[in-house]
Amino acid sequence: MTEASKDTKGGGAIARHRYLEVLHQFTMSQASLTAVDDICWNIAKTAIGDLGFVDCVVYLLNDEGSALTQRAAHGDKNPGDRQILDPIVIPVGEGIVGSVAKSGQLQLVNDTRYDPRYILDDNFRCSELAVPILHDGRVVGVLDSEHPEPHFFSEEDVALFTTIASLASTRLDTALALERLEAQAIELEEARSAAEAASHAKSQFIASISHDMRTPLTAIIGYSHLLEEGSGSSEQRDKWQRAVISNAQYMNGVIGNILDMAAIERGQLSLTMDRIEVKAWVASLEPLIEQRAEQKGLSVLFIVDSKAPIFWVSDRAKLSELTMNLLINAIKYTMQGHVKIEVSKEAINSTEYLKILISDSGIGISSESLSAIFEPFVRVHDLKHYSKVEGTGLGLTVVKSFTEALQGKIHVESEVGKGTCVEVLIPSGERNVRLDNSSQIASAKATDPHLAQVETDTGCLLEARSILVCEDSQTVAMLIQAILERAGARVTVVENGALAIAAIAPDTDHFDAVVTDIQMPIIDGYELANQLRQLGWAKPIIALTALAAPEDKARCLAAGCSDYLTKPIDPADFPTALANAIRSHSQEAVMP
Ligand code: ADP
Repeated sequence: MTEASKDTKGGGAIARHRYLEVLHQFTMSQASLTAVDDICWNIAKTAIGDLGFVDCVVYLLNDEGSALTQRAAHGDKNPGDRQILDPIVIPVGEGIVGSVAKSGQLQLVNDTRYDPRYILDDNFRCSELAVPILHDGRVVGVLDSEHPEPHFFSEEDVALFTTIASLASTRLDTALALERLEAQAIELEEARSAAEAASHAKSQFIASISHDMRTPLTAIIGYSHLLEEGSGSSEQRDKWQRAVISNAQYMNGVIGNILDMAAIERGQLSLTMDRIEVKAWVASLEPLIEQRAEQKGLSVLFIVDSKAPIFWVSDRAKLSELTMNLLINAIKYTMQGHVKIEVSKEAINSTEYLKILISDSGIGISSESLSAIFEPFVRVHDLKHYSKVEGTGLGLTVVKSFTEALQGKIHVESEVGKGTCVEVLIPSGERNVRLDNSSQIASAKATDPHLAQVETDTGCLLEARSILVCEDSQTVAMLIQAILERAGARVTVVENGALAIAAIAPDTDHFDAVVTDIQMPIIDGYELANQLRQLGWAKPIIALTALAAPEDKARCLAAGCSDYLTKPIDPADFPTALANAIRSHSQEAVMP
């Protein structure tokens, strides 16, 4: 026991004098304290330590009022260091301390061995005194002291503890309120900076999307004007036309990436497995790439290895998009030299993979940046030097997600100034029973040589077919009409669902199919399909829409559409899809 302790435990006038002196010092020292921890440590150390009890713990009630947490301690187990490594948490109502918090009444236990509430730590401390810290009748915390000897605490000790608790309570309550306010201020500040960061990312995203759209749009608008004026040699005009198409396709790819990102974030990536003829698939990528490479003076090599499989089952659209993204990157980030795609087969641990290797002789990626390239919106090159290289930082994120969705693997190797090589391995997937309309066409093309041939010459595909086109955009209607008339169809155009019903109802045999937009004034595409089915019209209704999310397709089919195609329209595939729909309808109609 310390000097002070001996004095106080000796009782009498000396002890009272000593108590008053410590209380006075305590009050004085508390006056300058404002932080919760400072107040608690001051109670535990100065007051209790000076008075010489074996230990003292200050517990504070949490905001929910459900538990007490140790905020300061002074005793054998904590000889002076102002830190609590593993604070004790006591639920309200549990143990002697918990029961004080629950009842708001002090507890003096003279022999804890006979009190079932006593929570045994390392050894019995036979006396325990726990005093509530009350403010306006509310429990704010508990002061707790234990001693090895039974019947240790005197009435004076109880009075002393109670006085200390009451002297500290107002200050503690104010400090706690301040602490809560500070926590709220920090939370608000964090929320504000998170919102600011999100808004900044959004602005940056919009800026880069706008840039990514405006660059190809500049080419599309510019060349279209030149073509409209009739200027240029025939060679130049061919070149401009190709530039219009390839820039429009690029824009379509950017929009595709944004929609894919949204689908990935919603966890709505669905797969449509397809039998892909590998050589034909690789060849189909060529025209989309050649022009871009040519413009930069790069050579492009398309290699299908003799070991490559003839057919591979996978999601054609996703496989094409991920490969296109990689090829476009290879071209974008290569200033001179070549870009190469090699397709072959590889077996790893008895699983066979379609191996797609895309390499370039471009600017390369530093090893520190490699880990970041798959993050959304991340562009690792200094845009001051590469400001002309358009991009959103989404391409590789989509590539990675698609590769994972197809159960594949991706690996990137790169050397700054030398080039980059991306290896994608895709295992063969299970074929779906139900295929998308678009992939039905694609797989039909791959397997049916007759169809493949027909597609290149759509001249008579829709011969003598009468098609009603319902589309409120005049430009798009004109395009659909031109494509269908080129395939031999007779086309009637109306600009909303109400006019479509008015055109069909008087003679339901007249039209062979309806091609309809979805978002239209007066009666939209859903309502049109619905009303036509109610009228008993059983022929194909093909939704042709810019609404490209999976739920849009389901909604169109549920409304009564027989097929669903998305814009932009592929002039080669569209008449084939329509002819297939009409043909399968008439086959169904003659079946018993
Ligand atoms: P971006 O739209 O910027 O091209 P990506 O997600 O496709 O976005 O790529 C992320 C970043 O990775 C790019 O901004 C670029 O810095 C780097 N990168 C991607 N492909 C290549 C490549 N073939 N060569 C060099 N750097 C590349």
